[in-house]
Amino acid sequence: MSEDLFKRLVSHCKEYGFIYPSSEVYEGLNGVYDYGPMGVELKNNIKDYWWKAMVQMHDNIVGLDSAIFMHPKIWKASGHVDAFNDPLVDNKDSKKRFRADVLIETEIDKMIAKADKEVEKAAKRFGDTFDEKMFRETNPRVLEYTQKALDTEKRLAAALKTGDMADLKTMIDELEIAEPDTGSRNWTEVRQFNLMFSTQMSNIGGDDGKLYLRPETAQGIFVNFLNVQKTTRQKIPFGIAQIGKAFRNEIVARQFIFRMREFEQMEMQYFVRPGTEMEWYNYWKEKRMAWHRAVTPAEKLRFKDHDNLAHYANAAVDVQFEFPFGFKELEGIHSRTDFDLGSHSELSGKKMQYFDPELNEHYTPYVVETSVGCDRMFLTVLSNALVDETVPDAKGEDSTRTVLRLAPALAPVKCAVLPLLRNNEELVGKAREIYDQLKFLFLCQYDEKDAVGRRYRRQDAIGTPYCVTVDHETLENGTVTIRERDSMQQERVAISEVARIVSERVDMRKIL
Ligand code: ATP
Repeated sequence: MSEDLFKRLVSHCKEYGFIYPSSEVYEGLNGVYDYGPMGVELKNNIKDYWWKAMVQMHDNIVGLDSAIFMHPKIWKASGHVDAFNDPLVDNKDSKKRFRADVLIETEIDKMIAKADKEVEKAAKRFGDTFDEKMFRETNPRVLEYTQKALDTEKRLAAALKTGDMADLKTMIDELEIAEPDTGSRNWTEVRQFNLMFSTQMSNIGGDDGKLYLRPETAQGIFVNFLNVQKTTRQKIPFGIAQIGKAFRNEIVARQFIFRMREFEQMEMQYFVRPGTEMEWYNYWKEKRMAWHRAVTPAEKLRFKDHDNLAHYANAAVDVQFEFPFGFKELEGIHSRTDFDLGSHSELSGKKMQYFDPELNEHYTPYVVETSVGCDRMFLTVLSNALVDETVPDAKGEDSTRTVLRLAPALAPVKCAVLPLLRNNEELVGKAREIYDQLKFLFLCQYDEKDAVGRRYRRQDAIGTPYCVTVDHETLENGTVTIRERDSMQQERVAISEVARIVSERVDMRKIL
């Protein structure tokens, strides 16, 4: 999908009530979005898909809904107060802010693109006899670009690991990185910027009353580990799952709902015996990839190991999706060791351990985390689904239609009920009757406005998988047509069969 199609997607979201910019009447609020009537349905279905796959399908995973506000010491123990930073750099001329690491990463991408371009040119020149591997290993220009990309990547990872902001600035200067819009190379020093939002509790003044809006939902799970384990009597290994809002004061939030300042996470922490964490890490890698593949083409997904491990992790991988702007993180899977439980035990003075009856010993469990952004999943699902296609119209001539090819289980509206004519009382009455029955089962729409062809197009554009049309034959023999969104094929069925047929086809089981 190109940048153009990405723009189409953003405008489609607004036009059909999926996503609106927040506070739009006041010119919007950067990095914050509102979900409209269709958006909230799709988002709820995504959450439901996740919840069912994680909680309902596993008898050793239970849910939690912890508060957004938590004791400020939690963020000290978790390392967020000291280390949840991004390197910030300002351009003195344009006054725009950037993440220094992202500027350098973009430069690395350019080096790789240059090498690829050389390969592409040579492939054209040599035709069938071209040996790409040999060319990459011997062509001086390709070698130079590739080596430079590798060196820069290594140096960036080292600077980020040690927090060497000065070296990031030197790299920006040495690589002659310019501000993308203005070309200016007039940069400030690079400094650490903490991504947590803070606010103040009313009854406690000063630093003691300073609260943070949680930057991840995971900590609510860790501090409830003992509560949940005791009340559910789960034995290790077991998991706690949570869906909820998280807040990050992102330096740059420019890619629609890919990077927001307020967003939602679907996280699961899996508590395991120390020493077994890599086994579970690999297990969850595969499980999570299978969950994605059920709704996303495999070639648009890939794993990317982390070069730069966070302070709490001994292994980490991203599930990346090919967004309109390239392969980027959709989900993170992390082996978090006993870091979180260990440091909460230490700072709170309350032991967060588990007694393992099989081993007859106490230990601090290790944790494998799966963390997927609900909004990024939403963007993934929509990027896969939005298609403009040419189809024959009623007269058999070419016309274009926009269709959201969503998995039926995720579609906001499952079924539309349409009387062929709006001014025929019998047709309208019958259609209303069918609608009134179906609405108990799933979200339906009743629509009688405009010609039926236009109504089909409106439903296509919001991804409704089935349209039930009540026509003259309905009044004669009690049958209706069901039109399927993607094939546009219609089948005639008895009214008494509609609920069963549609229910079966939109069932979440199809993707679980
Ligand atoms: P990135 O490198 O893109 O900033 P991250 O590595 O900081 O992401 P995690 O801390 O692993 O992200 O968070 C888990 C998931 O939460 C991510 O995979 C992503 O789907 C989602 N997420 C994180 N930050 C944002 C954001 N600003 N807006 C929307 N979703 C986000």
